[in-house]
Amino acid sequence: MNDDSLYNIRMRASHDGKHVSGGERLVSFDGIMGTVSDLVRRAASRIPFPDDITVRVERLKGTSLQFIAALDVVSVLVPDFETGRAAVSHVLQLAGVSRLAIETAISLMGSGAAPSGSNMRGAMIMDAQTGERFEEDQERGVRVSRFDWTDAARTEESRILSSFGLTHFRTKEALALATKVVHAPGVIAELCWSDDPDYTAGYAASRAAGYVRFPFLKASGDTRGGRAIFVERNRFNLPSLLNYLEKQPVLIQTPGRCSELPDIQSFISIRNTYLSRSC
Ligand code: AMP
Repeated sequence: MNDDSLYNIRMRASHDGKHVSGGERLVSFDGIMGTVSDLVRRAASRIPFPDDITVRVERLKGTSLQFIAALDVVSVLVPDFETGRAAVSHVLQLAGVSRLAIETAISLMGSGAAPSGSNMRGAMIMDAQTGERFEEDQERGVRVSRFDWTDAARTEESRILSSFGLTHFRTKEALALATKVVHAPGVIAELCWSDDPDYTAGYAASRAAGYVRFPFLKASGDTRGGRAIFVERNRFNLPSLLNYLEKQPVLIQTPGRCSELPDIQSFISIRNTYLSRSC
């Protein structure tokens, strides 16, 4: 596939002015019609039916395409969201994020990180040590865009995730987004949980730990959610980071592995064993 034949397709749907569904794909010319109808079908399955569905098809020209491998997925079981948040904090600390920054992110995401008190449309960019935020517009945040799976990698990743019961389309999309994010210059980790009240799962991701998923990072029925991208202050440059996250087309061509662990202690001990062997 060459860059001139790559198309970015974005869908967003709203009801009564509120965002209810969205999605984004990167496809070749031949994939346009099927992808548009998949995304419209996704929006149309929302109840109540959206009163606005917008699909934008944009040809990407002149930007070189980057190919990367998907992060490995580790699914760590937790009984409830309080245990989940304590566990996700461990994972982020192991990646080099301070407790202060983690607590700041969790508290903002749990209460509405936009200045208006609602959910942001995009992600926060946060100093991994101090918790200071760098987004220019804190209502919107940064929208990570232009990433997708190759057809072969998507099929194989779906098969791998399904064998662990991870069949929701959100998991594959979030895994692709997190894979792009942790390859960005200056980024050390990401934290996310959805704003969908029926979807309680969330994750922390880093290049070393992979995509560490927890079934509960919030209570069922909670409409709060968000994303925090943690950066190393002396290694990052805001314009380059925004350019990469928003503009650089990235295709994931190699699926990752998937495993499941009964609790966070197992995650920590496996990681310690691995580190002591590699020293
Ligand atoms: P979702 O997993 O789609 O429910 O999204 C959870 C939160 O992540 C949303 O409330 C937004 O704050 C943020 N978010 C959603 N999509 C993106 C994106 N493409 N880039 C960055 N942040 C996003």
